[in-house]
Amino acid sequence: CGIVGYIGKQNISKLLLDGLKELEYRGYDSAGIALLNSKKIDVFKALGKLTNLKEKIQKASLSTYDIGIGHTRWATHGKPTELNAHPHLGEYSYVVHNGIIENYKELKDELIEKGFKFVSQTDTEVIVHLFENYYNLLNDEDQAFKETINRLQGAFSILLISKANTKKIFFFKNGSPLIVAKGNEEGEVLFASSDAPLIGLANDVVYLEDGVGGIATAEKIEFFSDNYSWSTLPSSKQFAQK
Ligand code: GLU
Repeated sequence: CGIVGYIGKQNISKLLLDGLKELEYRGYDSAGIALLNSKKIDVFKALGKLTNLKEKIQKASLSTYDIGIGHTRWATHGKPTELNAHPHLGEYSYVVHNGIIENYKELKDELIEKGFKFVSQTDTEVIVHLFENYYNLLNDEDQAFKETINRLQGAFSILLISKANTKKIFFFKNGSPLIVAKGNEEGEVLFASSDAPLIGLANDVVYLEDGVGGIATAEKIEFFSDNYSWSTLPSSKQFAQK
């Protein structure tokens, strides 16, 4: 299972697929990507090998996108099906997740009570509805993401994108690995579960610690408690130049 994410001007679907390919060794039963620009979100999911996902993407007529997230799934809650594959959709947001949301049942009951409709059997789907629940209440996407994280228990690494703000990737790491990196090109941000997908694309990388999350845009990466500039990132590590 693995996660990739990208903000920047390169061909996003290709970049995400290449990244997921590098994470194949971690094992998976299905895969998917979501691509976002200021007008729309496109999503592709497929069971089995990445070549199945690649075929679907190649058949589609794609736009250019600003942001994308991708996932290879190793099912823990809900069978390996296309419906249960990530990214998971709310009304206007998508999430990819590695790990397990231990308290998903109570959250799901609470959200169903509020009128949210679930389509998958995964624990993951609560994240995207929780986010939209808080966004609908607070009308502030940053705050909504923090409130969402506060409600989650278990091991989870997350990337979330939303039409609420089409320039941002929200991220959080707890348990499962997650790296955020500044790309070699101006305004690029990359995410990945291991450094394999980042080699050749990024030099400034941060191996996030548990309990660390934030918000990435082409201009900056904000962490939850503070606003670090790249040069002062807490656990920044340089790749050897290849
Ligand atoms: N628990 C989630 C699911 O079953 C995520 C699994 C994973 O880490 O790939 O969909």
